[in-house]
Amino acid sequence: MIRKQRLLTPGPTPLYPKALYAMLGAEIHHRTEDFRQIYKTLLSDLKEVMGTRHDVLVLVCSGTGAMEASVTNCFSPGDRVIVCSAGRFGERWTEIARAYGLNVTILEEPYGKAVAPEAVEKALAANPDTKGVLVQATESSTGVAHDVRSMGLAVKETGALFIVDAITGLGTMPLSIDDWGLDIVIGGSQKSFMAPPGIAFLSISEKAWAAMETAALPRYYFNLKRERKMAAIGESSWTPAIALLLAFAEALKYIKTLGMARLVDNAQQLARAMRAACAAMGLELFAAENPGAAVTAIKAPDGMDSGVIVKEFRNRFGSVIANGPGALKGRIFRIGHLGYFDFPDLFAIVAELELILQAQGFPVNLGDGVNAVQQIYSELAIRNKETARA
Ligand SMILES: *Cc1c(COP(=O)(O)O)cnc(C)c1O
Repeated sequence: MIRKQRLLTPGPTPLYPKALYAMLGAEIHHRTEDFRQIYKTLLSDLKEVMGTRHDVLVLVCSGTGAMEASVTNCFSPGDRVIVCSAGRFGERWTEIARAYGLNVTILEEPYGKAVAPEAVEKALAANPDTKGVLVQATESSTGVAHDVRSMGLAVKETGALFIVDAITGLGTMPLSIDDWGLDIVIGGSQKSFMAPPGIAFLSISEKAWAAMETAALPRYYFNLKRERKMAAIGESSWTPAIALLLAFAEALKYIKTLGMARLVDNAQQLARAMRAACAAMGLELFAAENPGAAVTAIKAPDGMDSGVIVKEFRNRFGSVIANGPGALKGRIFRIGHLGYFDFPDLFAIVAELELILQAQGFPVNLGDGVNAVQQIYSELAIRNKETARA
């Protein structure tokens, strides 16, 4: 039988088809007016989509590169930073900060739980010398979302910078960058932005630019002040990944037309429907208290290895889902909702999951999960009709 490949992970995500085709136009020199036109439009579309008055810059690297750039450009050796660590990406913040000799205070929660904003407030009060607070908007390894609004409002009152890895948060939760005091907000092309991996971007507040005036960590390729100067004339510091930029620019046009609020709502409704399907199938969520909409992390039923579910998805249906990371391997599986996903994708995913669970001997009635998703879809269809009429 035919098995179509479907990418259902929290990144890379399915590509917007026109973004893929746009890459064919990559024979452009980056020091020409043709390029400058494209790059300027891309930067202004990105700024509009992120909904900020802050500067927005693009870097040629995966998301981690922008995380590293925010550390090397904003801090000096020995600076104290607070890391909110609730999973693998929180641990990455600690690793980056330590690699550059920062003094890291870790606010750690077990996998599946979120760091409370009160913990950040307390740590800031106990460490008034703190120069930065680093967090994930959504921790893709466990599926939890952080309350970055409350955290941001607390950090705003101090001299510290609030640096948010929103690589899976952008496009899956509302983020009021300017109003909530989010000094640096980091995104990546391969998550909600429907383009291939390889482009990262970040918004930078005036407070962060001011901190860069005295930040003394070494840096070269990722020099944000230099990048800002170049962006102002429509160019990037170094030869950019032109094919990827063309894809990203095309996807941004689509997201702009759709509207960021609708993209966020799309992910949130899919995530809600996925959670309802899990309840209907008798499956437990891994991040039950603060689930984000980027990805749903689901516990494998007792006695079943989640790796078997991941393999079955791929072998039976060509569907690529994610296992649990690190210590969670074998215990949970993760399904993405961010970016170019729709309800028909979810009907299929849940139907696949039901068939897999049944074949593994887990008691499930075929259709229970799909029915839960359909119920939510029809409620939404009515809601959308009413908003359209209003
Ligand atoms: C994907 C992801 C990253 C970045 O990973 P890269 O592989 O460097 O793009 C960082 N943080 C979170 C929360 C992510 O989901």
